[in-house]
Amino acid sequence: MTDTQATTAPLQNARIAVLGYGSQGRAHALNLKDSGLDVVVGLRPGGPSWRRAYLDGFAVAEPADAVRGADLVAVLTPDMTQPGIYKDAIEGNMKPGATLLFAHGFNVHFGQIQPRTDIDVVLVAPKGPGALVRREYEIGRGVPCLYAVHQDATGKATERATAYAAGIGGARAMLIETDFKEETETDLFGEQAVLCGGASELVIKGFETLVEAGYRPEIAYYEVMHELKLIVDLFYEGGIARMLEFISETAQYGDYTRGPRIVDADTKERMKAVLKEIQDGTFAREWTAEYNAGLPNYKAYKQRDLEHPIEKVGAKLRARMPWLAANQPKPAPEPEPAKAP
Ligand code: NAD
Ligand code: MG
Repeated sequence: MTDTQATTAPLQNARIAVLGYGSQGRAHALNLKDSGLDVVVGLRPGGPSWRRAYLDGFAVAEPADAVRGADLVAVLTPDMTQPGIYKDAIEGNMKPGATLLFAHGFNVHFGQIQPRTDIDVVLVAPKGPGALVRREYEIGRGVPCLYAVHQDATGKATERATAYAAGIGGARAMLIETDFKEETETDLFGEQAVLCGGASELVIKGFETLVEAGYRPEIAYYEVMHELKLIVDLFYEGGIARMLEFISETAQYGDYTRGPRIVDADTKERMKAVLKEIQDGTFAREWTAEYNAGLPNYKAYKQRDLEHPIEKVGAKLRARMPWLAANQPKPAPEPEPAKAP
């Protein structure tokens, strides 16, 4: 179903609690408010986002208090914090028949949250970062959203999910129905194999290959990092066909004959192995254990990435291209490690 007829009507008299005011939380809360809905933001007192939400004009309350009066609770804190927040602030405080909403199916799908059976449980996942969800809304457009129903206690779960998606602007673009399993597994696979993991490793290995062969790092940076944006913009507008229209015949011939040697059948086999680890819960268990141990490996991996020569030369070159940073979305804040068990 691709439903662009959805309106906010089913939530017109509802109070919406948005828990978390980061990338998605701030964008959702502002868009819902501008769509005429009643929003309260739930945050830890003294936390960094409290002041920001207050200055943006919201009623701000502690999570448990925000949940108590709410007809819909949107859980938009980092995934690893959600099981604790569910236990502490949500489980004992939600009204029967209210709606619990997630922007990613991770915790429900992998059983880290087992929601009460007398509430609706839904998913509305914008296919883009929060800054884009807000920016598109402000210019009268929207970011396409996936939506799903995990539990329908009231018979109204679907209309409430699509009303929420309309409220954040998604219905102006496209709403696509899915289920928690499909959203969770495809989202994790996309970011691991292609978007984040795959793309950044492809760039780094290409950079290293050129620099180790004696070419200047500045030239290598432009070639394999900077120019990638032009290609990705063409993918976004019109797929691979559009890219092929814009590149030279020489580049096309290189693409057809060399591309499949770089990313080959073995790569696809490893993609299948990565997908399997997502499907069987291996990845979820590993990441949860890493988070609960205080992120020791995560921090080391991040440091290694930040110290790579491509980042050094990149920072130098980007400082001379200040126009690149204008209007760019802010990065997500650091995850906070769990307290020692
Ligand atoms: P984020 O890290 O940007 O924001 C987290 C917010 O939660 C911050 O306001 C922080 O202060 C608050 N917070 C952190 N710990 C808390 C706690 N213990 N109690 C109360 N508040 C706490 O998060 P995000 O990237 O917006 O992700 C939120 C959800 O949206 C996740 O489920 C994520 O998977 C999903 N999502 C994110 C994106 C994205 O592009 N970032 C896209 C689609 C879906
Ligand atoms: Mg995603």
